[in-house]
Amino acid sequence: MCGIVGYVGNSTEVVPIIIEGLRRLEYRGYDSAGIAVGGNGDGLQLRRAPGKLRKLEEVLHERPVHGTFGIGHTRWATHGRPSYANAHPHSDCTGRFFVIHNGIIENFAALKAELIEAGHEFSSDTDSEVVPHLIEQYYAGDLVAATRRALGRLSGAYALVVLSSTDPETLIGARLNAPLVVGVGRDEWFLSSDLTAIIPYTKQALVLGEGDMAVLSPVGPVISSIVDGSESVPRVVRVDWDVIQAERGGFPSFMAKEINEQPAALENAVRGRLLGHGRVEFVDWALDDTDLKAFQRVQIVGTGTAYIAGLLTKYAIEDLAKIPVAVDVASEWRYRPQPPDGRTLMVAISQSGETADTLAAARLARTQGSHLLALTNVVGSTLSLEADAVINMHAGPEVCVVATKTFVNQVACGLLLAMRLAQARGTLGEADRRELGAALRAVPAIQRQILGLEESIASLGRWLAGYQSAIYVGRGYNYPTAMEAALKLKEVSYVHAEAHPAGELKHGPIALLDEGMPVVAFATESVTREKIRSNVQESKARQSPILAIVNDGDSTLDGVADHIIQVPRLPEMVAPLTTALVGQLLAYHAALSKGLDVDRPRNLAKSVTVE
Ligand code: GLU
Repeated sequence: MCGIVGYVGNSTEVVPIIIEGLRRLEYRGYDSAGIAVGGNGDGLQLRRAPGKLRKLEEVLHERPVHGTFGIGHTRWATHGRPSYANAHPHSDCTGRFFVIHNGIIENFAALKAELIEAGHEFSSDTDSEVVPHLIEQYYAGDLVAATRRALGRLSGAYALVVLSSTDPETLIGARLNAPLVVGVGRDEWFLSSDLTAIIPYTKQALVLGEGDMAVLSPVGPVISSIVDGSESVPRVVRVDWDVIQAERGGFPSFMAKEINEQPAALENAVRGRLLGHGRVEFVDWALDDTDLKAFQRVQIVGTGTAYIAGLLTKYAIEDLAKIPVAVDVASEWRYRPQPPDGRTLMVAISQSGETADTLAAARLARTQGSHLLALTNVVGSTLSLEADAVINMHAGPEVCVVATKTFVNQVACGLLLAMRLAQARGTLGEADRRELGAALRAVPAIQRQILGLEESIASLGRWLAGYQSAIYVGRGYNYPTAMEAALKLKEVSYVHAEAHPAGELKHGPIALLDEGMPVVAFATESVTREKIRSNVQESKARQSPILAIVNDGDSTLDGVADHIIQVPRLPEMVAPLTTALVGQLLAYHAALSKGLDVDRPRNLAKSVTVE
């Protein structure tokens, strides 16, 4: 998820190269940084610091290191809070093997237990630290063989680099479900999670395939398969991005980059949690089946997008686990007198984990005896530290002020929570559970299909930008989806938009409808699909231009809607994870057509730490 830089080559001083590479990766967001270098005759030297790169530079100023090859990392915590001990590189018990890692080792808990049993001592709370200890365990004179064996034990996602005092001037990079590239300079080689870091030095890169390992030494890189060691000739790419473009992974804005990252982010949200047959487990979780059975109510609080994700979570929990759920805007809930309640699970949703209103509501719930479950994107955030249990949404850093991938991951985690509650309470049949699990697994591919429709959605975004105001409607799970889509349009394009349950149109908002007020209807698979068709007809009868989002092959709104976007069919509960992308792309292109800065919309802040 975060930043990796490795260097081996003819430079006489590697530290500035690594620091410069890490600086180029800063845009990705991170919470700590570290470096390990060798080649100065003193063995491998390690420096780490929590916080910004500036802190690491201060450490390096006080206690300089020099070397000719090395590795550097910016960490964005997924396991263990941001701290000195958790910053990468991590090493084994003997200090011979150093590893930097991006991603999540899904089976780290079992591996750690096994290694502790074998006598290894751990010094961090990270999942990553199992890797150097595994290499130590398997090392018998051949670093590549030991690394290959260690990697064979890992499941999950990783881009990692190994540096060892046993094999000076050698770096081993490997990737599985996370990006890693090899930069090819003149008598020098780089390893990086992102082309951005290497662009100042070279425009030539080798793209490693999934499950590939690269052994870099002064004679050049050797690429092979992690599993069987078979060597391959990698694809060489020439990068012609400029530096600014590179900082956004080649995308014109962070919003575009983050919209496009959603399939990978979703895979991270379900990784290691959605198991075979649709079973759900949260690793290292403080809530067991007995706790989950004892709750009589769920109360959800959030603000903005997180509130909307809370609504979808409510629907899913009530549907699957049959527990009554209330959802409130945090700033409202916290000022309403609440009865003391020890049987309630309070779910506080906040991307940053620092949202002042959500924190205050969460604290209030705890003083009343409720169990506090935090759903956040930032490990070690205040909310996650104060909670009894945490679900980390694993969306990766989000730089754009408006939420895109974090919304989708919040909804995905809410759905996993609903499935977990249902599992404990025995309210979800085996077949339904399997079906839901399969649908969730299909989401990244369907998201990619929707991203493939961008061109046609873009023209509709430009069309929406021509209006002063728009009404979004949906029913059932499509209603919160419509709310989120309307919120996105407001936030980035400044076109006024409001969302209503489609059945509510006739109870008021219909007065606004005429040829100048478009209606955007989310009308995909639902128990109320027939009903929303009538609502769309009612809107058309008032001359509103209609944009309908329907499933592939659904022609029932042909001739009624002026514009139709067709998306693949999914169960109603899962569909928002894909249809949300349509709303995001509409808003994004509406804003672009008005020449607006989508990443920094006026008056908005990313993390709202004031009331
Ligand atoms: N899972 C690792 C950790 O928490 C790596 C996180 C990252 O990708 O930066 O340390």
